[in-house]
Amino acid sequence: MSVQFSVTRNSNPLPDAAREEILAAPVFGAKFTDHQVVVVWEKDKGWHSAEVIPYGPILMEPSAAVLHYGQEIFEGIKAYRHQDGSIWTFRPEANAARLQRSAVRMSLPEVPTEIFVESLRQLIAVDGAWVPEPVNEKTLYIRPFEIAAENFLGVRAAHRAEYRVIASPVGPYFTGGIKPISIWLALDSARAGKHGTGEAKTGGNYAAGLLAQSEGYENGCSQVAFLDADSATYFEELGGMNLFFVYKDGHVATPALDGTILHGITRDSVIQLLKDRGVKVEERKVSLAEVQAGLAAGEIVEVFACGTAAVITPIGEFKSRKGDYAVSTEPGELTVSLRQELTGIQYGTVEDRHGWMYKLAD
Ligand code: PLP
Repeated sequence: MSVQFSVTRNSNPLPDAAREEILAAPVFGAKFTDHQVVVVWEKDKGWHSAEVIPYGPILMEPSAAVLHYGQEIFEGIKAYRHQDGSIWTFRPEANAARLQRSAVRMSLPEVPTEIFVESLRQLIAVDGAWVPEPVNEKTLYIRPFEIAAENFLGVRAAHRAEYRVIASPVGPYFTGGIKPISIWLALDSARAGKHGTGEAKTGGNYAAGLLAQSEGYENGCSQVAFLDADSATYFEELGGMNLFFVYKDGHVATPALDGTILHGITRDSVIQLLKDRGVKVEERKVSLAEVQAGLAAGEIVEVFACGTAAVITPIGEFKSRKGDYAVSTEPGELTVSLRQELTGIQYGTVEDRHGWMYKLAD
């Protein structure tokens, strides 16, 4: 399938000096580039009208299906500038596949991988100047998303959808060095239930986590860990990252993908990097009781979270209404070395032996 993108350049792009000011100290998700991608899907026509247009508001009727029935899915992927000026992204086919799985779950049409990858290339072709220099872990965060865009009220899958791509420059997750973060344990609020939509990257899952997230902020935590909705016994994931536990004997455990956890692309890559090092990785149920006992006995020596936004983040403690569980005040050795390896691959300074990097522009 080949789709031709038409390009309408923004006649009023942000002046170079203003853009450079943003790129000097980017704030996650606060400023957006000069353009966006739009591709339309209609039940009887399939995908058509692929365009790059100026960034700006979406014209939508109040009856648009997404506003009432929540058919919305999204992705998060970054563009990295390498030392030679070229622009790359990380495992875009994996993001395309995940967007397709989310689409199936949310009864939206699947964006073909070719359109997904080409949409990233098209946006970078016009907004490449927004990809920051490779210092301080700066990148351009790209947000592909899909919405039900039919104007109708009624509970059925929409017959019209739009796929769009926007992008926002981002700075380092940690300013002033990597520091272990505090995590709030959501003991009475679940994110996703069995056979629900937990595995899909859909807006409602994130809305469901905001109450616990606010509670976490009030208790000095920057992220929330969710447990399984059935029994509140097993760790699932954080609001925006997957979890890993490192044991004293060298093995690593991570909650298994059981339908309620997002298939993190960083998670998958970390598992591969650990296996490359000969580390035993267990994908299984990890209970809160096991982690409490393991931390108290010194059997669990590092805990980290991972995701596209923050790469790999050491966890310093879990806090909850029922008590706090300390991990470490310093980032663990394995956490730091995995982080260096993965960011090295992404910025082109470490060999990409799995062919994960995809060039978007020279
Ligand atoms: N879990 C959730 C709920 C997320 O939102 C994300 C981020 O997309 C992740 C995990 C990590 O996924 P990835 O590594 O693909 O960014």
